[in-house]
Amino acid sequence: MTGNEEGKALVETGTFDKEAELNHLMEIVHGYLDDADCKRIMAAFNLADKAHAPQKRASGEPYILHPLAVATILANLQIDATTVIAALLHDVVEDTEYTLDQIEELFGHEVAFLVDGVTKLNQFQYHTKEDQQLENYRKMILAMAKDVRVVVIKLGDRLHNMRTLEVLSGEKRRRIAKETLEIYAPIANRLGMHNIRIEFEDLGFKAMHPMRSERIRGAVRKARGNRKEIVNKIEESLSHCLAIDEIEGEVSGRQKHIYGIYKKMRGKRRAFNEIMDVYAFRIIVDKVDTCYRVLGAVHNLYKPLPGRFKDYIAIPKANGYQSLHTTLFGMHGVPIEIQIRTREMEEMANNGIAAHWLYKEKGRVNSKDLEQFAWLREIFERQSEETDSREFMHSLKMDLFKDEVYVYTPAGDVKELPEGATPLDFAFIIHSKVGQHCAGAKVNGRVVPLRTLLENGDQVEILASEAQHPQPSWLRFVATGKARSSIRRFVRHKERDETIELGRK
Ligand code: MN
Repeated sequence: MTGNEEGKALVETGTFDKEAELNHLMEIVHGYLDDADCKRIMAAFNLADKAHAPQKRASGEPYILHPLAVATILANLQIDATTVIAALLHDVVEDTEYTLDQIEELFGHEVAFLVDGVTKLNQFQYHTKEDQQLENYRKMILAMAKDVRVVVIKLGDRLHNMRTLEVLSGEKRRRIAKETLEIYAPIANRLGMHNIRIEFEDLGFKAMHPMRSERIRGAVRKARGNRKEIVNKIEESLSHCLAIDEIEGEVSGRQKHIYGIYKKMRGKRRAFNEIMDVYAFRIIVDKVDTCYRVLGAVHNLYKPLPGRFKDYIAIPKANGYQSLHTTLFGMHGVPIEIQIRTREMEEMANNGIAAHWLYKEKGRVNSKDLEQFAWLREIFERQSEETDSREFMHSLKMDLFKDEVYVYTPAGDVKELPEGATPLDFAFIIHSKVGQHCAGAKVNGRVVPLRTLLENGDQVEILASEAQHPQPSWLRFVATGKARSSIRRFVRHKERDETIELGRK
């Protein structure tokens, strides 16, 4: 923050921007909110503008441009008015003379609650030390469980800070970028906010590894030029195929993001060309049953690659994602990845939890909407039980960072587990008693070792025995935080009991 005198000229040059940005925000909110809401948003802007008047951002711009930008990011997701207002006011209590009580008086309890939540989230410093990182996570999880909108505002706040990262010193920039990749991107991912996650990752990667990022960006640009012709050809043949079956759908090519390509190159040790040699398309239609008709049509056009079909419409991902996925052998054997979904699913795929507001008339996420975010409650409950913070961190990372596999109970119910899960994880998901007495397992009717990795579509049956109890060795092959903390708790208690017993003797 600079002093008043020094910044005066900057305020004036910034005034024009401010007006333009404000008009832009008001235009967006008028598009989906009623006049009364828009008036409240305007009033919130005026308060924030007055409160932040003497302040500057590190770039020298008037501070108000920051909350304005955050509110705009969220308004673009068509989020409810209360959240937009809280976004405008999110730094007022922390950085200005205004108090939470004043905000409550002017804008009501809900706004004050959200502002308070964001302020509390801000009150920690990030260090690479695990304990501090844990504290960040804990606060996020707590805030999410109370009202997920607090975290949505925080993601908007972080996104604008990432977009304006260049003005900071190298060290600070790297620290913020690292935190974004380690904490904010996975949380955005878990909330299904794909667009924001992609931007976090690409901006974070650019700040951490500018050279690598630029090199991949250049290579992608070049590859795209070379591929243009074949992409157009495939797109035409897909559109033609829909037309023949009289299906209305929108075919478009998909592009992988820079950080995604980097992760694939590193994780799967694949060459850039191998990754780019896959052609990816998306087909968007009006209704769910049309998705399946499109699937039939494209499988008729090109042969599908066996084992690659996934029905995330029947079985949505934990973050709410729905779509059909299939891979085809195109002309000359070129692999073509296809995603098929409705417009509503597309909105959900891009903006995740924020898309809920779009399809709710009252503009509030209720607890039923949040049922699909049951993992959140689960983590929340576990964090109050787990006394060892390092251990909590470990199990949290297990839950936040992995992809899911979907398996069936003998009765045909679907259970979601993280990648790398074993029948033991499955047993603990069913019930902690089932987990504790898990003596063996059948996968697809066959008895398998407990350390067997489960795959999508497996049917799992647990063989329980009263004589069986959790073993320390089990910790080596569970992938869920739930199984891990149950086993640890049991083992710890047992050790303590034995020590007491020994003491008695
Ligand atoms: Mn802020």
